[in-house]
Amino acid sequence: MPSQLIDKFNRKITYVRLSVTDRCDFRCVYCMGDKMTFLPRVQLLTLEELEWLGCAFIELGVTKIRITGGEPLIRTNILRLFQGLGKLKGLKELVLTTNASQLVKMAQPLKEAGVKRINISLDTLKAARFQKMTRTDKLEKVLRGIDAAIQAGFKRIKINAVVLKNRNHDEVIDLVRFAVDKGIDISFIEEMPLGEIGEHDRAEAFYASTQIRQDIETSFTLLPSLETTAGPSRYYKVIGTETRVGFISPHSHNFCDSCNRVRVTTDGLMLLCLGQEHSVDLRRIIRANPGNLIPLKQAIVNAMAFKPKSHEFDFDEQPKILRYMNVTGG
Ligand code: SAM
Ligand code: SF4
Repeated sequence: MPSQLIDKFNRKITYVRLSVTDRCDFRCVYCMGDKMTFLPRVQLLTLEELEWLGCAFIELGVTKIRITGGEPLIRTNILRLFQGLGKLKGLKELVLTTNASQLVKMAQPLKEAGVKRINISLDTLKAARFQKMTRTDKLEKVLRGIDAAIQAGFKRIKINAVVLKNRNHDEVIDLVRFAVDKGIDISFIEEMPLGEIGEHDRAEAFYASTQIRQDIETSFTLLPSLETTAGPSRYYKVIGTETRVGFISPHSHNFCDSCNRVRVTTDGLMLLCLGQEHSVDLRRIIRANPGNLIPLKQAIVNAMAFKPKSHEFDFDEQPKILRYMNVTGG
């Protein structure tokens, strides 16, 4: 059994994203349809199975695990998973992506459980827009959640904003100013064609990262950051501040050459690429071999042979990937 996962393009896999629930208290228009059917609970990996999976990946050289969803913090007893993973030797970074709606009460316990960094989704600072984009009215709660996370003292906090033309593209400067004022980072994300959403035409709503950067540069000076994160974001430092601005550009910049990650969906499917369907059913293997890590590790190792070289996103009439982002784990 190798101690490091390496795929056939010689990319080391050191990062796993676990989607712990497909449910969410929001219904963001780029992520979900307004009428969603969620998975029956028996299909979800249990918290124990998720921790077991974490052990297998860490023994195979994974050093970073991101917990995501759906909204991970609304899963019952989710703190137990953070506490369990936080104790595993070999895990250097336990990180989280959240919509912040639960952070007022959970920021401190998450920090104590060993979470190092948090990514928080926030696309707009305007209540009416927030209502339209998330189909909830929880902007105030989210803003209080962000403050609670800052108060708890995480090593790094980053806002993630999906930018849609004619929805929130005119707010990118205000969002950078918000991040600068709070002393945190921000990344802007191009919308990806995952799942059939119906609410808007994704091609029409496309707003390129290069355009966002130009918009921001009318008010701030950006200097390319020398730090590399081996992630899809390209970072710039906002001169004279502590803030970094990142751009995640799946359409305009292909970041697959340096891909170091795999994802596990809510129901235990390991996805080898966000934009392709290659997968392995790890839940079946876990449940068929209780208490035995070896078949699970072997299945993960074998899957490295078919990790695709790259994603291919385009604006076909029908989305090629029918999975919604909440199942996949963004
Ligand atoms: N609920 C949490 C949150 O919103 O942060 C975690 C899960 S969410 C699926 C993770 C990230 O995926 C969020 O930053 C969200 O903005 C992003 N996302 C969702 N659907 C997307 C899409 N179609 N294209 C690009 N980003 C998307
Ligand atoms: Fe929920 Fe996050 Fe998807 Fe928004 S992006 S609907 S908060 S899972």
